[in-house]
Amino acid sequence: MTIVEAIAAARKIVIKIGSSTLAKPDGTINRAFMLDFASQCAAMSRAGRQLALVSSGAQVAGISTLHRWARKTDMNYRQALCAIGQVELMNEWSGAFRLCGLHTGQLLFTKEDFEDGKRALNMRNTLFTLIDEGVIPVINENDSVACDEIRIGDNDNLSALTAILWNADLLILFSDIDGIYTNNPKTDPAARLIETVESIAELREGITMGGVNGFGAGGVETKIEAAEKTCAYGIPVILANGANLAALDSLASGRLRGTLFLAGK
Ligand code: GLU
Repeated sequence: MTIVEAIAAARKIVIKIGSSTLAKPDGTINRAFMLDFASQCAAMSRAGRQLALVSSGAQVAGISTLHRWARKTDMNYRQALCAIGQVELMNEWSGAFRLCGLHTGQLLFTKEDFEDGKRALNMRNTLFTLIDEGVIPVINENDSVACDEIRIGDNDNLSALTAILWNADLLILFSDIDGIYTNNPKTDPAARLIETVESIAELREGITMGGVNGFGAGGVETKIEAAEKTCAYGIPVILANGANLAALDSLASGRLRGTLFLAGK
């Protein structure tokens, strides 16, 4: 199966947008990207697809709104930044989608919510209701209440849990990397993009992991973890670079390459 075929076959798609994709290099929110992305989602939804968005960027939006606390690492400041930034982030998404004739609904989850059967069922019901009624759910971790013990910590894993909860057909992770390479492409010119992953265990043996980069919490490892979780439920995962305008369309038409993790392996 190719990426083009995986997208063509999917009706229910979870798309994760990373902080580095949402923010410009100076750390401010990339409004042009959001407008462009919302209009691609709207076209997909008019074509009968159902979409749920997992959007990072609360912290980066908090910093770009406040112009303070960028270097504060204390938990209370990080949570306060997310409380500020999440509102800004949702304002931007709801404005962008409204221009395309779509409403958005905000869902904020913690790890414990997924672990508690009753809460998970309620989340699932809300998610289904929003989507069935044509509203785009915009999901993030509830960063201002989630302390270390109850944090998922990165939105790669959050989007995996969401795809499983919703029983999605496909998860797309848009990041600032083009996919999984055999080695770090920034330091090794011979590094090769791996376009299809059939066995995650073999992949782990064959590649060299880099660290976390950009503004987000995840790195290559959290993306592989997310793919492993999701694929175990029979849901394929695509990892691609979301930075270019029309990234979703380009991926669907084969103009943009990435890594496809095949399900059930
Ligand atoms: N939930 C975090 C935020 O919105 C981002 C986590 C991540 O980058 O994966 O700032």
